[in-house]
Amino acid sequence: MEIKVEKVSFQYEDVKILDSITFNAGQGQIIGIIGPNGSGKTTLLRCIAGILKVDQGSIHINDKEINQYKRKELARILSVVPQISSFTAGFTVFETVLMGRYPHLGVYQRESEKDYQIVNSALERVGITHLVNRDVSELSGGEKQLVTIALGLAQDPKILCLDEPTLHLDINMQYKIMELCKEVCHTKQIGVILVLHDLALAAQYCDSLIILKDGQIRVIGSPDDVINVESILDAYGVKVIVGRDASTGLKYIIPDLQSEAESRSVN
Ligand code: ADP
Repeated sequence: MEIKVEKVSFQYEDVKILDSITFNAGQGQIIGIIGPNGSGKTTLLRCIAGILKVDQGSIHINDKEINQYKRKELARILSVVPQISSFTAGFTVFETVLMGRYPHLGVYQRESEKDYQIVNSALERVGITHLVNRDVSELSGGEKQLVTIALGLAQDPKILCLDEPTLHLDINMQYKIMELCKEVCHTKQIGVILVLHDLALAAQYCDSLIILKDGQIRVIGSPDDVINVESILDAYGVKVIVGRDASTGLKYIIPDLQSEAESRSVN
């Protein structure tokens, strides 16, 4: 299963939001999309999901253009989990996650034992079995976030796209969710596309990274190639220190406040 995004451009009315975006995502790989607020990350995911129609370029999944897929057919392959969904009050967590099975059901077909098992396994994986009977609208931001991820997993897609999956989560849960993405990606051999804000998480968990700025890809490549002082300054306009933990070799990125202050006093 491969997704090919080729020279995709998109505009809202007369404002260009995405400008000639090209990349491929394959199975068993995590691709992270990073970049400043408003750079077009969510818009790109919405184009990939077929929610927005691209103005130029194309998006193919397995050599078939996404607008050639029927909605339900596409939903069986591709799950795009938005930033915390506006869940409908009156539905329990279980009922909400069960909605992820809808693309797999035929017309008038009811959920089977297998669907319930898949939902239970998604709830277990995300660690929210204790919430099953709660009304989704009454959950905390972090709990809602976990429900959206369980919903994406229950859909059992070949390509899973998550928009800021670690938003609203504490540091422990952030790592659990990233570990879960890695595990699902490798064991199920699916492609995972993540929009992330946390650069250290992105560097640690993604196989490749894309930095978007003003709707354009500024850098694309391995986390080692993409995350450096120059690329972060270019994309975010902030000086950072990129270091490595001596024992694990993992990257950390912190603002270089002293250097920022010095350059302000010179100017
Ligand atoms: P990001 O996810 O990187 O923060 P978005 O894709 O949400 O960025 O937004 C990119 C740009 O598109 C922003 O300037 C935003 O204001 C604009 N935008 C988003 N949604 C709409 C919309 N429905 N109509 C017009 N402009 C929009």
